[in-house]
Amino acid sequence: MSNLEQTLSIIKPDAVERNLDAEIKEFFKNKGFLILKEKKIQIDKSEAEKFYKVHETKPFYNDLCNYLSSGPIVVMVLQKENAVKVNRELMGATNPKDAEEGTIRKKYGISIDKNSVHGSDSIDNAKMEIDFFFKD
Ligand code: UDP
Ligand code: MG
Repeated sequence: MSNLEQTLSIIKPDAVERNLDAEIKEFFKNKGFLILKEKKIQIDKSEAEKFYKVHETKPFYNDLCNYLSSGPIVVMVLQKENAVKVNRELMGATNPKDAEEGTIRKKYGISIDKNSVHGSDSIDNAKMEIDFFFKD
């Protein structure tokens, strides 16, 4: 049975700053993802706070929102069979130190905060996050 899904991926400021966005997009395409939509933008802190609202009680929330709004990001809608889960697997663990070989965070991540990519963690969140950036 077909299970075509869409998920939201963000190439974070640390990776865009190092000009890794083209390489990371190739990585997704080589793994069979279609990039349905994409845009390079910079968001302000209040938008970052809205996007990461789920983390508002966490000790890292303020730094996280400062960071996501600190420079350009590339926001993409990725489509593939089981896109949400497959993207999470390809991203690797939140802390690049714990990420497996062959994952994006293992290859490009600098630290737990500068970990190069965001990916939706559930189908419901994927829908909300896609709407957040691409509803017009
Ligand atoms: N983060 C952080 N410190 C932590 C945990 C998370 O700076 O101790 C940042 C990190 O950039 C991570 C983001 O907050 O990607 C969101 O955290 P989450 O637990 O949702 O990780 P993810 O879903 O991105 O793997
Ligand atoms: Mg998350």
